[in-house]
Amino acid sequence: MKSNKVVLITGGSQGIGADIAKTLATNNYNVILNYNKSEEQAKKIQSELAEKNINIEIFKADVSNHMEVTKLINFCINKYHKIDVLINNAGISQTKLFTDISDLEWNHMIQTNLTSAFYTIKDTLPSMIHNKFGCIINISSIWGLVGSSCEVHYSVSKAGLDAMTKSLAKELGPSNIRVNSIAPGIINTNMNKNLSESDIQDITQEIPLGTIGNPQSITKCVQWLIEDDYTTGQIISVNGGWVIT
Ligand code: NAP
Repeated sequence: MKSNKVVLITGGSQGIGADIAKTLATNNYNVILNYNKSEEQAKKIQSELAEKNINIEIFKADVSNHMEVTKLINFCINKYHKIDVLINNAGISQTKLFTDISDLEWNHMIQTNLTSAFYTIKDTLPSMIHNKFGCIINISSIWGLVGSSCEVHYSVSKAGLDAMTKSLAKELGPSNIRVNSIAPGIINTNMNKNLSESDIQDITQEIPLGTIGNPQSITKCVQWLIEDDYTTGQIISVNGGWVIT
């Protein structure tokens, strides 16, 4: 039976976001998949699901641009009259010495990974507050928790997301809106395609569970957070034990 829950996921065209979108749609949630550059991949996900009689909506928007986010949220509200679950997953990474990061690169990172969540949450909240129900999940990173050399702007953007999670959980709890972060360790997606086989082997040796993660591990945590009703303000790090804080 179709769930009446409406889920918007940003950056759903590939990697972690694509797995979350496909799994939730297959489990009968009404899913709106946002993408930016990877239109072909988003359409492929939509048509593969359609072959199984599963419908999802796809919508192009650059989440670093507030006007485009507003169009995305309006599309969701016009279509389903509400958003129950907002998953801020879209993100970029970059490896660079701090001294080599340009002003443009710094701003692009913060805008894409952090300010985007300010836009999506701000535009979604009127509907959630009206319905006295909401679940917001921010996909951050272990690097926001412990910092990463040569990824200072990335780490700052993710630490900012976690601070947003904690602060909003306090502000929005009385409206029955839960806000949590999932902070993945290393997950097998295109984001890590610059790592060599031997880099991956070296990292794997540091992970107590002995393997890098798959998007499915993040999806399972998302599913649990959606169905839960008493967890808010938490940073849940799914990382195989690589980082234990
Ligand atoms: P990925 O495979 O590179 O996918 C990134 C997704 O973000 C793509 O769907 C991309 O959409 C979307 N995106 C990027 N900029 C966007 C923008 N301006 N507007 C809308 N969408 C945008 O990366 P991933 O590994 O799945 O990462 C997903 C999230 O997990 C990110 O926030 C990342 O920081 C976080 N994370 C990943 C890892 C890891 O090891 N993989 C670890 C910790 C945290 P288009 O391709 O359509 O532009």
